[in-house]
Amino acid sequence: MPNRKPEIAPAEYYDFIIDLLSCNDGVLPMTKVFDAIERFYGRHFSSADKRMMTMRQGGERPKWKNNVDWAKAIGAKQGVLATVTHKGQKWLVRLEEADDFWVKKAQKKKKKRSFKKKCPNCNFWCKLGDKKCESCGFEFPPVPEKRLID
Ligand SMILES: [Zn+2]
Repeated sequence: MPNRKPEIAPAEYYDFIIDLLSCNDGVLPMTKVFDAIERFYGRHFSSADKRMMTMRQGGERPKWKNNVDWAKAIGAKQGVLATVTHKGQKWLVRLEEADDFWVKKAQKKKKKRSFKKKCPNCNFWCKLGDKKCESCGFEFPPVPEKRLID
């Protein structure tokens, strides 16, 4: 059990979250994820895990929740997990296992986020997905697309 370390590592939560979502058709509200983690790990929390952290947007929360967010970030980076807002709350989605409804929502959200790239020819800021510069017509070299879901 994860008791020797002063803090439970994000990687530990990551494995737990993957299993948890598998048992729930790939989707759970984030509050339920936190609840499940607290139920399972709560009695192993060290003072380091319980330490209260000030959040950027105000308020406080225990360190372990930060580590759970790290776990989510690991999954998002790998294209395994996504956070989706639905009916006024956040849901954690395991893309491989969730229904299309959730996967589409996750993809839509990703598209909406407007990443930009700079045109090397005229320095105009273009959308990351643009093949040509809107301003001068410079053709961006093709970027190999990452596969999200098998
Ligand atoms: Zn340009």
